[in-house]
Amino acid sequence: MGNLYIADEVDVCVIGAGHAGCEAALAAARMGLKTILFALNLDSIAMMPCNPHIGGSSKGHLVREIDALGGEMGKNIDKTYLQIKMLNTGKGPAVYSLRAQADKAKYHTEMKKVLENTENLLIRQGEIADIITEDNKVTGVVSESNALYRCKAAVICSGTYLQARCLYGDTIIESGPNGLRRSEKLSACLERLGIKLFRYKTGTPARVDAKSVDISKMKAQPGDERVIPFSFENIDKDISKPQYDCYLTYTNEETHNIIKANLDRSPLYSGVIEGTGPRYCPSIEDKVVRFADKTQHQIFVEPEGEDTNEMYIQGMSSSLPEDVQLAMYRTIPGLENVRFTRTAYAIEYDCIDANQLKLSLEFKNIHGLFSAGQFNGTSGYEEAAAQGIISGINAAAYIKGIEPLILDRSEGYIGVLIDDIITKESREPYRMMTSRAEYRLLLRQDNADLRLTEYGYKYGLISQERYDRFLAKKAAIENEIKRVSKINFGPADEVNSLLEGLGSSPLSTGVNMGDIIKRPEITYDMLAPIDTERPDLSDEVREQVNIQIKYEGYIARQMKQVEAFKKLEAKKIPEDIDYDNVMGLRLEATQKFKSVRPVNIGQASRISGVSPADVNMLLVYLNGYRG
Ligand SMILES: Cc1cc2nc3c(=O)[nH]c(=O)nc-3n(C[C@H](O)[C@H](O)[C@H](O)COP(=O)(O)OP(=O)(O)OC[C@H]3O[C@@H](n4cnc5c(N)ncnc54)[C@H](O)[C@@H]3O)c2cc1C
Repeated sequence: MGNLYIADEVDVCVIGAGHAGCEAALAAARMGLKTILFALNLDSIAMMPCNPHIGGSSKGHLVREIDALGGEMGKNIDKTYLQIKMLNTGKGPAVYSLRAQADKAKYHTEMKKVLENTENLLIRQGEIADIITEDNKVTGVVSESNALYRCKAAVICSGTYLQARCLYGDTIIESGPNGLRRSEKLSACLERLGIKLFRYKTGTPARVDAKSVDISKMKAQPGDERVIPFSFENIDKDISKPQYDCYLTYTNEETHNIIKANLDRSPLYSGVIEGTGPRYCPSIEDKVVRFADKTQHQIFVEPEGEDTNEMYIQGMSSSLPEDVQLAMYRTIPGLENVRFTRTAYAIEYDCIDANQLKLSLEFKNIHGLFSAGQFNGTSGYEEAAAQGIISGINAAAYIKGIEPLILDRSEGYIGVLIDDIITKESREPYRMMTSRAEYRLLLRQDNADLRLTEYGYKYGLISQERYDRFLAKKAAIENEIKRVSKINFGPADEVNSLLEGLGSSPLSTGVNMGDIIKRPEITYDMLAPIDTERPDLSDEVREQVNIQIKYEGYIARQMKQVEAFKKLEAKKIPEDIDYDNVMGLRLEATQKFKSVRPVNIGQASRISGVSPADVNMLLVYLNGYRG
C-alpha cells in the first residue's frame, strides 16, 4: 500500500453496488448512519448481468420479504417492469409467486436515483483494494488510489467481480461481467485477513437483435391482466400499464447434435473452467448432457427493455465457442436468422463459504466486517438483495450497539436462506427454492408484511405512516375473520341456490360461514351475495381472510411444528464451548461443530453430517455445563 490519504470518515462502507450492496447501503443510511457505497462503475449500479427478471418461484417471496422490511427491490421493479405474472396459481397459495420482466436500463436508473437522493448516503466509483483492521476490528477501507475511508463497519458485496474471468470456447477475458473491469486486489487482502476463498462460476446466454427474431414461429407469453405489485406500498392501479410479451420456443435434435459434437471445445468440459456452477441454472450444454433423453428444451425469448432491441434467450446460457453458439441458436424455430448483440459466456469469480459468517452475516473472526450476495456463495438478484438488507441492518446495529436482526426459518425465506448458507455445507452457488422452506405454508408471499413489517419498523426502515396503514390492515383482517366465525347460514333458498350455482352442494343444516369457505370450490369473495353485512375491504385484506380461513387447519398444524422448532432454537449453546470436551462426540461432528459454531441446538441438528446421537451427546454435555 502506497502513501494513504484520508478521503473520508464515515460509519459504514459498502463494497459493491449490485443488488446486495444497494439494499445494504440504503438500510444503513436510512437507519441514520453515514454511509458510502462503492462500485467499480457507477453506470452498472443494480445491473442485471443475466436474466431480465425479478422474482419467480420462491424468489418472489424474497422480494416481498425485502419490501416488508423496508427494502427497495420491490418498489424498484414495480416502477420498471415490462410484464408481471403470478406463477403457480394452479397450486396452493404457499407456492404462488410473483415474477416480473424488468426494463434493465430503467431498473438501474431508478435505483441510482434512489441512492443519490438518500440522506446520509454517498455513491463513489473506484476499486476498494484493502480493508484495514486493528485488533480484529474493521477501521477502514482503502481504494486503488490509496484513499483511506475510515469506517466502523464494512459490508463486502463484490458479486461476480473478484478475480473474475469470462470464458467461451478458448476465448478467456480477465474481466467482470458485460465487459466491465474486474476487481483485482481485494481477494489478496481477504486472504491476508484469513478469509478462505472459493472459485464459483455461472453463465449467461447470448443477447440477440429483435429485428433478426421471427416471433411468428413462437408462442407469445403475455403478462397477467390484473397487475399485482411486489411492494406492499403499491396497489394494482398505481402501477398498471401496457405490458410486453415474452415468447416460447424450443431446442431440437439438431441443436443437441451440434452441442454434443462440440463438447470438447467447451471450457466447461475441457476442464479450463475451475469454478463450480449452479445445478439449478445449468448451461444448455449441461442440460443436453444431463438430460440426454429429452428431445427438446424450453427457450424463452425475453425483451431487455422498452428502449432497446436486445432480447435475452432464457435457457441458452453457454460457454461454447462463438461459431458453435451461432450455429446452435440458428436451429431454434424463430431464430433461424438470429444475429447476436452479445455472445454467451461463463464467468468465474472468487467468493466465500458462508460458514465463515455468523447468522448476522458478520465474519466470525473480524468484528464489523459483514458480507452479502453472490460473494457469500449464492446465485440470483433476489438472494443477493435479501442478504444485502440484513447485512446493512446488522452493520448499523453493530455500530449502534443494538441486537442484530436474525430471522429464523419459521419467520421468512430470508431466514431459511441465511441459515442454510451458514449452517449447511454447500459446494455450488445456492439458489432459493420453495422446497427448502419447511414452513412454507406460513411463509407465503401474500403475508410477508404480516410476518416482517414489525422488524422493519423496529429498525427504523418502515415509516410511521406505512406502519399505521399496516396495523389498520392487520386489524381489518382479524376483525373480519372474527366476524365470519360468528356467522352461520341455514339451508335457505338464496344460500343453496348460490352454492349450487357455484357447483357446491347445498346446505341441509346450519353451517358456519368459515366452514363453507373451507370447501375447495368456494372462496370468501363468492359468498358476498349472501353476506349482506360484509364491510368494504381491500383486495389484500379479503385475500388474507380467504387464505387464513380456508387453510386454517393446515396452518394450525404447521404452527405446532414451529413451536417444536422454536424449542430447539431456544436451547442456546455457549459461544466459548470447547467441543473437544464433549464426551462421545464423533470426530466428524466435533470438526463440523468447531467450524460452524452453532448458536443453538436447532442449528446444530441441521449441520450436514451431524447425527441425532451427536446432538444428544451435546445436550447431555450442556445439561452439566457450568461455563
Ligand atoms: C454472467 C452471469 C450470469 C449469471 N447467471 C445467473 C443465473 O443464471 N441465475 C441467477 O440466479 N443469477 C445469475 N447471475 C448472478 C446474478 O447476477 C447475481 O446473483 C447478482 O447480480 C448478485 O448480486 P450482488 O449484489 O451479489 O453482486 P453483483 O450484482 O455482481 O454486484 C457486485 C458489485 O460489486 C462491485 N465491486 C466488486 N468488487 C469491488 C471492489 N473491489 N471495489 C468496489 N466495488 C466492487 C461491482 O462494481 C458491482 O457493483 C449471473 C451473473 C453473471 C455475471
